[in-house]
Amino acid sequence: MSSMDHGQNGEQTSMLPPQSLQGRVAIVTGGATGIGWAIVEALSQLGARIVIASRRSETVEDAARDIERVGGEAFGVQVDVRSPEQVNELVAQTKEKFGRIDILVNNAAGNFRVRAEEMSVNAWRAVIDIVLNGTWHCTQAVGREMIASGGGSILNIGSTAAFHGGPSTVHSASAKAGVLAMTRTLAVEWASYGIRINMVTPGPTEDTGAMTQLFDNEAARKSGARRVPLGRFARREEIADAASYLVSDYAGFITGENLIVDGGRWLGRDLFENLTMEQ
Ligand code: NAP
Repeated sequence: MSSMDHGQNGEQTSMLPPQSLQGRVAIVTGGATGIGWAIVEALSQLGARIVIASRRSETVEDAARDIERVGGEAFGVQVDVRSPEQVNELVAQTKEKFGRIDILVNNAAGNFRVRAEEMSVNAWRAVIDIVLNGTWHCTQAVGREMIASGGGSILNIGSTAAFHGGPSTVHSASAKAGVLAMTRTLAVEWASYGIRINMVTPGPTEDTGAMTQLFDNEAARKSGARRVPLGRFARREEIADAASYLVSDYAGFITGENLIVDGGRWLGRDLFENLTMEQ
């Protein structure tokens, strides 16, 4: 992880009032990189204590140190979300360190392009296991704690491929569609426990792994941005703002919702690009 990825001064960039999440405890999976890191920074700036969880121990520890260096409270836990045992350990360590869990952000994911007819069983299982099963393991383990403690807020990070499909990424599109169904199901099933569960669905977002992979040259970036009605890709902070809002009390009556932050991309600019105002 380069220091370029991480904010260096801790100045608030969030749209929410300072201290909106004062004293809350949040677990963010995949929180050391990309969108996950932007969410970690935003929640921390709003006063939350953060557990940053992913497979690489050095990366999560470095990220937690970056938060502490600017005055936040964080610690890193090495966890593979595919393992229910490791996820239970993450929950136990969080409770031991901070005493409670108020917020869970299921952001960890894996994805790669492969044509459906050529996909191996292992490739299919790898992505389903991280995105769908991993989200479920974390949601169930943390949900049980939230039920016992009287409530909380869960946020899943989605993908527009869940609605329009994802050619060459059928594993990821299928997994994200499952996560959307999980979000809507638990919004109803766990509402009486005081648990809200929502989703933020980003479009292509600057300074993330996916962007580097999918738009690896200037021409690809330009044509990608042209397909977004608002004419550009998302900034990580814009996704983090939507995430902060949905986990905060300002969204206290919102559950089962999916907030799409993609500049209008999924609605299909391609359909309209030949139209002009005169027509
Ligand atoms: P990213 O930088 O590629 O990061 C993925 C994160 O997930 C990494 O921190 C990784 O850490 C962690 N991770 C992967 N497998 C894991 C596992 N088995 N257990 C625990 N952690 C694991 O991701 P991103 O591009 O910012 O995307 C973040 C989220 O936004 C994802 O849910 C993605 O589907 C969604 N999204 C992104 C975009 C975009 O343009 N970037 C667009 C639409 C949706 P370790 O390697 O240390 O485990």
